[in-house]
Amino acid sequence: MVTKSRAGQGKSFVERIYRLRIAGLGLGFFCVASVFALQHRGIVLWSLLVFHGFVWPHVARRAALACEIPYRGERLNLMVDAMLGGFWVVAMRFNVLPSVLILTMLSMNNIAAGGLRLFARGVVAHGSGMLAALVTVGFAFSPMSEMPTLLACLPFLVVYPLALGFASYRLSEKLAQRTRELEHLSRTDGLTRLWNRRHWEGLLADEFERCRANRYASCLLLIDLDHFKRINDTRGHPAGDAVLQAFADLLRGHFRTGDSIGRYGGEEFGVVLPGATLREAHTIAKALVQRVREKTKEASAECPCTISVGIAQLTGDLPDYHTWLQEADRSLYQAKATGRDRIVVGGLVPVHEVARG
Ligand code: GH3
Ligand code: MG
Ligand code: MG
Repeated sequence: MVTKSRAGQGKSFVERIYRLRIAGLGLGFFCVASVFALQHRGIVLWSLLVFHGFVWPHVARRAALACEIPYRGERLNLMVDAMLGGFWVVAMRFNVLPSVLILTMLSMNNIAAGGLRLFARGVVAHGSGMLAALVTVGFAFSPMSEMPTLLACLPFLVVYPLALGFASYRLSEKLAQRTRELEHLSRTDGLTRLWNRRHWEGLLADEFERCRANRYASCLLLIDLDHFKRINDTRGHPAGDAVLQAFADLLRGHFRTGDSIGRYGGEEFGVVLPGATLREAHTIAKALVQRVREKTKEASAECPCTISVGIAQLTGDLPDYHTWLQEADRSLYQAKATGRDRIVVGGLVPVHEVARG
């Protein structure tokens, strides 16, 4: 059975090949036609040539899209092209320029679409097409290419490689864009769109190194929502998710662009404040705690819990960023232990915070 996602595989591949096939077979038609005209070939061969040059690209596209997995259908179409390529070589009595040109362009296509494997299959298909032509059309050897044939081959020779190059460029552009998107996704938290823990810890480590090298101060905030579990328990998990999203928005609006905000755990967030002194970090955190308190009183109460904050400054005696994080975590723990809805700075609860708590 083919799943829905597999069924959609390769539609863009089919469309890409469709455009290239229209160009390649349309131009290739004139190469073979110039030879057929000089050799006075019959109506059957001419009809097959017209079909291959101008009708087949549309039939091939429809046939591939009708397949359960269009990608596989398209690879089959490429083999039909390869077979017919071999057929035309024999039917043209091995006229050297168009023969080499057609087989090279088809092989280039196969390599671009499926690497060496498809190229090898294409070679086998060329062989079987040649065999079919030997049986039906017969063998004759007339390799000389006349001037009209040479001229008829020129557009194919020039235009098709350019078209293929352009298609490859567009594909690599698209791929680069997808890679960038995936990289961003791998760094962000799906629910809050803040940095995820792994990436945020990387930013923290970078900041640690920068502070060390340039000898400036930086502060780290760990923020935890108070009694958040109650929201899940009373309003349900989706409501809890909405609160986390609203809180993430609030954080985004509160901090500067250079500050790194991450979701450290379930309802715990970390913020790196590059270049901030303890006093500055405390002022920023205090404003945040105050803002959250006000939010809890609003009728809509998007963010109904207060927060506890632990602040740690990067000092010269901290051996690594893990210890910096532990310092902030210790402060956060104290904020929880001493009553929540407060800030603890470097293990000390500011006097006015205790009074408020
Ligand atoms: P405290 O004030 O001590 O921090 O209490 P608390 O209830 O906030 O903390 P606790 O550690 O007891 O519970 C945290 C809860 O957060 C438990 C967990 O189910 C919930 N949680 C973690 N991640 C998510 C999430 O992504 N969505 C929702 N809705 N809940 C989450
Ligand atoms: Mg909590
Ligand atoms: Mg927690």
